Amino acid sequence: MIQTAAGALSPPPKRGNPDSYHTAKASKSSKNYTANNSKMTAKNQQFSFSELQLLMRGKWAGYHGSVGIIQHKIGKQVGCQGCGGEDRFSFQKDYPETGRWFCRQGGDPTGGDGFALLHHIYGWTPQQQLQSVADYLGLSKIDDKEKKALRLTAEKQAKELQAAIAKKDEQARRDSNVLTMLENLIDEIRHRQYLQHQAVRFNGGYIAEPTIDEVTTAQELNAAILEAYAHKRGVDYV
Ligand SMILES: [Zn+2]
Repeated sequence: MIQTAAGALSPPPKRGNPDSYHTAKASKSSKNYTANNSKMTAKNQQFSFSELQLLMRGKWAGYHGSVGIIQHKIGKQVGCQGCGGEDRFSFQKDYPETGRWFCRQGGDPTGGDGFALLHHIYGWTPQQQLQSVADYLGLSKIDDKEKKALRLTAEKQAKELQAAIAKKDEQARRDSNVLTMLENLIDEIRHRQYLQHQAVRFNGGYIAEPTIDEVTTAQELNAAILEAYAHKRGVDYV
């Protein structure tokens, strides 16, 4: 089973209802990673998975390396530290941002974000995952005021990410509009070519004027291009 990616925008797990995503995979080769367990207490539960995921963007390789997960080139198929094999495991393209990985797990494919990897390789519980990452980010030592500030930053980043995604969707809609209009215009020009051809064959030939439809579709294409691209200058387009 492939677990859905716990993206940076997923809602924080509900209190008293452990995020099933991070516990879904009962790895047969679970082993305790004792080097860090000593630091893990039930105390630091203030930061949720989604908040930590935001704060961890770009830091997964460094963090995973620090807890003993061997780093490979992104996309390279290698043996899995969690379940063996020779070439079943790989880091995904967005690994630096999300920690995302994939493992074929001997015919039972699995994958997930940087937290889920801690479970796949070390069998860590959600609590252990949160604690270890919070320790790495130095969040265990900071006071409540600093935590609040960080949380606000994380929320702001989440909103910015959402806005960027919405903007991208809107641009994709405009781009696809332009393509549709362009195809319509090509159809109309082909139609006129056909009319011209018929005219030469049967009517001794005359020059077919552009049809009304052809002119209309050209105008629609023009409008779609303006809508899609004219606004771009000076706009921080992601
Ligand atoms: Zn594996």
